[in-house]
Order: sequence, then structure tokens, then C-alpha cells
Amino acid sequence: MKAETQGARGFHLILHNSSFNLSPMPLPSSITALTAALAKLPGIGPRSAERIALHLVQSEKSTVQQLAEVILDAREKVHLCTTCGALTEASPCDICSSPRRDGSLVCVVERPVDILSIDKGGSFHGKFHVLGGKISPLDGVEPDDLRIADLEKRLTTEPIKELVIALSTDVEGDATSYYLAKRLARADLKITRIAHGLPAGTGLEFADELTLSRALEGRREF
Ligand code: ZN
Repeated sequence: MKAETQGARGFHLILHNSSFNLSPMPLPSSITALTAALAKLPGIGPRSAERIALHLVQSEKSTVQQLAEVILDAREKVHLCTTCGALTEASPCDICSSPRRDGSLVCVVERPVDILSIDKGGSFHGKFHVLGGKISPLDGVEPDDLRIADLEKRLTTEPIKELVIALSTDVEGDATSYYLAKRLARADLKITRIAHGLPAGTGLEFADELTLSRALEGRREF
């Protein structure tokens, strides 16, 4: 080995000169696996995933242990409210069981996170119903895959006078809204849809609170 017979400087020189032949040092496979798992999380790209993974493997063991425990704990405790489909630790959830909420008004949303978006605006005081998706035959989502039958049941057991449909303003959102308006039509039930003005083709989480509040106030009957 030439490098061994030379001084440190010579070794450095050889390394430097032949650096184009060296492949980058591979990360330990456990770090690669952690990075791959983190990259599956929403909003975390491959670079962020690697940065978090490298941070975690160099953190205090107790800190990582605590993080792992709160993740497992949250996953263990949180489930969907059997009435409205919101994320909750108790069923029925706080919104469903609140006497201060207007039980005659129910806002129909696609995902549990949409409840947070609408509630942040502070102008809606009714209750919610989460469908769990939108009708999308191309993606294999049929009406039976959504919580529509649960909503029909609520219409017979709760004093609901108005359903406010607040689905996204894309093709599937439109189709699902019209499907619901037709299927849920009852003589004593008003069905409205939040006003347009929401960003077209996006989910509710991209609308600011004021836009959402105005869209709710400007809802129109089908
Ligand atoms: Zn609930």
C-alpha cells in the first residue's frame, strides 16, 4: 500500500487525487430504514427524513424513548367518534356531547382534520359528520365506503334541520355533494353547500379562517 509508506500529507494527497473513484460512504442500514419510514409521513421529503433520522440517532436515548412512547400512546388512545367520525379519545366526542353546540345544524366534511379547519374560524356552532372520503370510482371509492348510512341514521335519531355540505371544490367533491343532496333529501331537511370562493380543487385545510367563515355564511341551498 503506497499510502502506508507515506506521511499523512501524502496519504491525503492520494485520497484527494483518487476521490472521483470513491463512492460515498453508505449510511448504516438502520438509519436508511428509519429515513425510509419517516419519508412516508405527510409533508416530509427525503432530505428532511434523513435530517430527522440523523438527529434521532444522535439524540439522548431517553428523548427518543419518550418520543416513541407518545407516538404509541396517541395511536393507542385516539379513535374515531362513533357518532360523527372525529378523532377523539372519548366516544361520543366533545363536540357531539356538547350541550352548547346547535344539534339542528350538522356540517358534513371529508376528513377529521376538516373539523379543525372549520372550528378555527369560530363562526360555526353546529355539529359535524365526517364522511371519510369522497366518492371516486377511479380510486375505487364507492358511496358504501363512506359514512353515509351513519349520517342517514343520525337524521332519524337527532333533531337535524340543516346539513351544510363542506367538501372540497374539486370534481369528486362536487359529485359527492350532489349525490348526498339527492340521497339525503327529506321534506323537513334543508341541505346547503358552503359558498364557492374556496381555493378551487383543494381541501379545506388550505383555506384561511376568514375565507372558510365567509364560505359557511354564504352557503346556498341545493
Ligand atoms: Zn363526535
